[in-house]
Amino acid sequence: MTQLIPMISQEEIKTKVRETGRKISQDYKDKNLVLAGILKGSFIFLSDLTREITIDHEIDLIGVSSYSGTSSTGKITFTKKPDLDLGGKDVLLVEDIVDTGSTLLAIKDYLKSLNPASIKICSLIDKHERRKTDIAVDYACFLLDKGFIVGYGLDYNERYRNLPAIFDLKL
Ligand code: 5GP
Ligand code: MG
Ligand code: MG
Repeated sequence: MTQLIPMISQEEIKTKVRETGRKISQDYKDKNLVLAGILKGSFIFLSDLTREITIDHEIDLIGVSSYSGTSSTGKITFTKKPDLDLGGKDVLLVEDIVDTGSTLLAIKDYLKSLNPASIKICSLIDKHERRKTDIAVDYACFLLDKGFIVGYGLDYNERYRNLPAIFDLKL
């Protein structure tokens, strides 16, 4: 039987996202910030984070597919490339969760060819135990050792994205 075990509450998420938005606003106050959300998992985090950022910024979306079920396939394909001109911009990639890091490594490699001034990473969750790459998460709201979580944008086979809080999925 599938079980959803509460892990991070709506209140905890709100507090952390606010804190992260403030930090980003401070760090990027003299820069040309572009938030680049990675579809689809980041869509709820991105929409909350952008409203907690108090400096002027642009938003773009990047689509990749890399995951099916609960384990990474290691390959990515772009379903949507960024449509802003990122040349000279300070790109902050917004992810739902960084696990092995291979998705972000591939995205970062591609973005470098667009000549942005900088590329950093902001992730709602930093799941560091299975990291296989030297990807550094510059802004992380929460750290997680292991497990598979859903809710607040994160899915299991496209379900549970709508849950307002984060749950541990036990199959
Ligand atoms: P990576 O390439 O870092 O191994 O995988 C990153 C992507 O896999 C994440 O952006 C997310 O879409 C998916 N993923 C990794 N761990 C989890 C998890 O615990 N829950 C969910 N729902 N997706 C995950
Ligand atoms: Mg993702
Ligand atoms: Mg997914």
